[in-house]
Amino acid sequence: MTTPEPHRTPTDARKAASLIVLRDGAHGLELLMLQRAERAGDMRSRAVVFPGGVLDAADRHAHHFVVGPDDAAASARLGLPEGGLDYLVAAVREAFEEVGLLLACASDGSAADLRERATALASWRLRLQQGQGTMAEMCSALDLRLDLRALHYHSHWLTPPGVAQRFDTRFFTVLAPAGQEAVADLGEAQELMWTTPAAALDPARGWKLLPVTRTTLQRLTPFTRAADAHAEAGARREFPLNMPRIGRTGDGKPKIFLPWDYPWAEIGRVDPDGRDPPLAEIVAGRAVRLSPRIVRVTAPNPGVMTGPGTNAYLVGDAGGDGWVLVDPGPDDASHRDAILAAAGTRAITHVLATHTHPDHSPGAAAIARASGAAVWGLRAPPHPGQDHGFAPDHEPADGECLVLGPATTLRAIHTPGHASNHVCWLLQEERLLFTGDHVMQGSTVVINPPDGDMGAYLRSLQALLALELDWFAPGHGWLVAQPHALVRALVAHRRAREAKVVEALAALGPCAVEALVPSVYDDVPADRFPIAARSLLAHLLALRDDGAAAESHGVWRSPGAAAAPRTSGDRPDAR
Ligand SMILES: [Zn+2]
Repeated sequence: MTTPEPHRTPTDARKAASLIVLRDGAHGLELLMLQRAERAGDMRSRAVVFPGGVLDAADRHAHHFVVGPDDAAASARLGLPEGGLDYLVAAVREAFEEVGLLLACASDGSAADLRERATALASWRLRLQQGQGTMAEMCSALDLRLDLRALHYHSHWLTPPGVAQRFDTRFFTVLAPAGQEAVADLGEAQELMWTTPAAALDPARGWKLLPVTRTTLQRLTPFTRAADAHAEAGARREFPLNMPRIGRTGDGKPKIFLPWDYPWAEIGRVDPDGRDPPLAEIVAGRAVRLSPRIVRVTAPNPGVMTGPGTNAYLVGDAGGDGWVLVDPGPDDASHRDAILAAAGTRAITHVLATHTHPDHSPGAAAIARASGAAVWGLRAPPHPGQDHGFAPDHEPADGECLVLGPATTLRAIHTPGHASNHVCWLLQEERLLFTGDHVMQGSTVVINPPDGDMGAYLRSLQALLALELDWFAPGHGWLVAQPHALVRALVAHRRAREAKVVEALAALGPCAVEALVPSVYDDVPADRFPIAARSLLAHLLALRDDGAAAESHGVWRSPGAAAAPRTSGDRPDAR
């Protein structure tokens, strides 16, 4: 299985360009939007969009009539072997046709007087709209050049697989050209609106916004000045391809998911071509096939700490007659019955527990009784909050392999940190790691001392970077693609938190863990402070091990600081 990199542009997608025209209005940054005409069966019918449209074969003829980047430079910016300039020309042409704004200059790059050409331009606009002329012909006739210096590449979107008409669209920003007024063409553009991003997003407006438009507006919302939004696009170095995917809601309706939505990667794995959009909701007890080898059944225990519930995974060789169960979950009769039903006529031969927290291992005994399976896992440590009834038949060594068939092997990866006895299981043939609670989707895991160990956790995270991985199958949440990127982000997140602990210790002086929580977890709601305090203690213990924090009688301090609490008058500077 190959790494799920962003899709290449499919050959059936039509190339398109859109222009985000920016100006400073009375209420800050304003954008030019238009409402598309009504068209039966077209998802863009009546949608409020940015000016734009598909590339025209004749756009290439205008290459000789531009001031700004040549095709090589434009293509490099857009990440294309060639033809990048066509997108910029199309963006300028569409803006002229649809809203009557023309980004043009004289052949030497100086400003061109468009007012004296107003009548001619109006007739050229009509001819272009009717396909009776080209931009090259217009530029030649009116002695004009398209001023592409004014455009900044902004973003790249591809319509989801499975929709009838796909568009591969490049977005550009531009500052509204001075002295020109936008006017609707009353064909494609029924109505023009200058709007702030926030007003466009206001549900009270009732505008129909496509996911791409909504996301673009959300990203422009923080800007108050047109120049700032334009400059930000110009300074960008990376332009990830954004391709939404289509899943299904519980009532069968299609629903769009964006790359940062949790179900997005899994939808792409189980339905890469958009032929049969899967249910994009995690429903307890429902068996979900994730590959010929893997079926997921989620326990009915959703909550703050368990997300949508604990995932149990049945893993088996495609041609085999047995299953290995990763994480039996809580001891819940309905969950056990759902797992046994999903296993069908194939016997469960092994039950593997990633660790012995009460939402992961207590179901092992009943499943083993029902199926005769052997129970594998590391014994519970003698701390509270553990499943002390967990009685494994075998304690797997780090690196030990369990062969399920000629093409299905699970390898034990010891990953202490969240729990001292935590074991992940690597399905080698799919480069997929069952992560238990070592990595969850959508949140950081709790590291709760004394069994939870932040230093060990970070080492266990780093160790995953040495494994060849394409997927995480977490104990809570959906499948996660690009696992190494997530690991790096998690490590960076913990390091940033650690830096805040060091800073808070220096700023507050000697104090108890609880006194540090509001400063270190100022991004966390106060009702989660008791849980945060446990992770904070884990950070402090790891810092103490590294000599970066000191503690006596429950009072923590910077290693160089005096042990006695300071008065508020002589607090050292936070730096
Ligand atoms: Zn856990």
